[in-house]
Amino acid sequence: MLYDVIVVGGGPGGYTAALYAARSGLTVAVLEKLSPGGQMATTSQIDNYPGFPDGVDGFDLGQQMAHQAEKYGAKTILAEVTGADLAASPKVLHTSEGDFQGRAVILATGAYPRELGLPDEGGLRGRGVAYCATCDGMMYRGKVVAVNGGGNTAVEDALYLSRLCAKVYLIHRRDQLRASAVYRKALDEQGVEILWNSRVTALRHEAKLTGVELEDTKTGAKRELACDGLFVAIGRVPDTALFAGQVDMDEAGYLKADETCRTSLPGVFAVGDVRTKAVRQVVTAAADGANAAHFAEEYLMNNV
Ligand code: NAP
Repeated sequence: MLYDVIVVGGGPGGYTAALYAARSGLTVAVLEKLSPGGQMATTSQIDNYPGFPDGVDGFDLGQQMAHQAEKYGAKTILAEVTGADLAASPKVLHTSEGDFQGRAVILATGAYPRELGLPDEGGLRGRGVAYCATCDGMMYRGKVVAVNGGGNTAVEDALYLSRLCAKVYLIHRRDQLRASAVYRKALDEQGVEILWNSRVTALRHEAKLTGVELEDTKTGAKRELACDGLFVAIGRVPDTALFAGQVDMDEAGYLKADETCRTSLPGVFAVGDVRTKAVRQVVTAAADGANAAHFAEEYLMNNV
């Protein structure tokens, strides 16, 4: 079926684009491989999205955004996109549920957690190695865990886990956190032990993780740290591999687009975490969605 707008990815950026486009009278399909919400759905408490003074569960907010867009006619299609021909007219998305055509396409595929790239990391996923504290933290209740990373995600994960686990280490490769200064006191108060200048160089395990090997980034000295869980929180990688060679990307793989969300390819827009931008938040993703829908509508009016 041919849609005016196909949105790829059902996070806050994607569903806001769908809401605005549908309310403009355009036919809209949202292709989503799992469930609405994207990365936001893995966050139990969002405290910085306006309108929710007591915070809001990310999964619930994702569902509400989907319902709101669907109320105005946007259609959610559960399908995994496997390929795209974005230069074609109309544009084509190849998916696990067949091909879909759109006169304009809004890419809202987000970003996924970066891996350490260590041997056995993939095999230990779910058996000691995790990438989302709010998703998997309960599995480590009463246990000893380590969080790797020094950004806001790592620090928030460490604080979350400190309320569940017997002991939490924070492993960071430098001697200063990248995370907002406001968190530093909370880490101390919660008893999180920070291992500065440390890099994880090996995963120790039998059937499950038993510990990690750490290297001192200043001296090169190695040491062992026993732990039941390692939460990797070292940043994100944009989910753009399927569009390589079709739209311009920066060196990290983010889709190049300004506030109009227009990419290098006419009729193709990028919103949310997948777009080149300074601040990746739910509220900035939602703002992108409104902009992309506006400029997609303008594109469609000029390209009948
Ligand atoms: P990030 O800010 O890019 O931080 C990544 C951290 O991982 C950095 O401390 C980095 O170390 C470290 N790192 C990167 N590659 C590594 C490697 N190969 N080995 C070991 N350590 C490595 O990523 P993020 O924490 O996921 O946050 C992403 C964005 O979301 C940020 O803009 C952040 O502010 C935002 N965010 C906001 C909130 C909030 O406002 N509540 C919550 C979560 C995230 P270096 O510091 O040495 O580079």
